[in-house]
Amino acid sequence: MKLFRRREVEQSAALALLVGAIMGPAASAVTQRDASYAIAAGASAAALSFVVLSRRWLRRYWLLRSEIDPAVRATLERRVSFYRKLEPEKKLEFERNVRCFLAEHTIAGPKQREVSLETKVLVAASAAVLLFGREDLDLPSRIDIVVYPEAFTDEYEVKRKGEILGQAHAQGPVILSERALVEGFARAGDGQNVGIHEFAHMLDLEGARFDGTPSGMDGHAARSWASLVHNEIARIGRHKSILRQYGATNEAEFFAVASEAFFERPSAMKEKHPDLYRALCEFYGQDPAA
Ligand SMILES: [Zn+2]
Repeated sequence: MKLFRRREVEQSAALALLVGAIMGPAASAVTQRDASYAIAAGASAAALSFVVLSRRWLRRYWLLRSEIDPAVRATLERRVSFYRKLEPEKKLEFERNVRCFLAEHTIAGPKQREVSLETKVLVAASAAVLLFGREDLDLPSRIDIVVYPEAFTDEYEVKRKGEILGQAHAQGPVILSERALVEGFARAGDGQNVGIHEFAHMLDLEGARFDGTPSGMDGHAARSWASLVHNEIARIGRHKSILRQYGATNEAEFFAVASEAFFERPSAMKEKHPDLYRALCEFYGQDPAA
């Protein structure tokens, strides 16, 4: 995700100019005023349209003019090994993604209970890891994230021994167990990170469902992805995979589980599953084993 996507800003500008070109003469015809009135009305309509169409990018621009909260940076440094390993310039880019995420999505406990800043930063960092390599990759514009203190059950009962650590809903919130989220970052090499898992599902959201072929992977890439997934799921079934068993549930879970392993065990994936590793390098625009 990039602060400004030039192509989108240019598209907004072109559309705004079109609105101005139509609205200016129309306003002057209706009010029976002269050409200078048409120019002024058209320019106002174009400017207003541009602000409305580009509001997301303008909001990000204003947000990032201020300094980062030192507590956010300290949490990234202490808890997020992906961030720690980056060059200083790349760290700034990662921080920008984290700050935009924190500003644009709501993160709260059940019944809107406040959660700690550290937890919020870990939620945002999960998404930032996925978005880091590609400027055209982004999440839905507003996600509600509900953080339960522990795991939970099918009835959304919070229990230390609950079986569910996280859930992504196509038309609802992303739910995360705070304990699992913290452990996911504390044990960065075990191939499990509930934050990465659930936000990978959100990248895979196609209309109202998760189909295992993330948006942005289409045509030839999508076709070879489908046969790759088929083979890799069979490999999990034969216990010949570094991916955990849950990845064989269906294509959507495979993508989420493979994404966790890609970021947490990249060298093992590159060695044992080179085709899968290459496909994910291409999709995420990153080479974490390098
Ligand atoms: Zn899942």
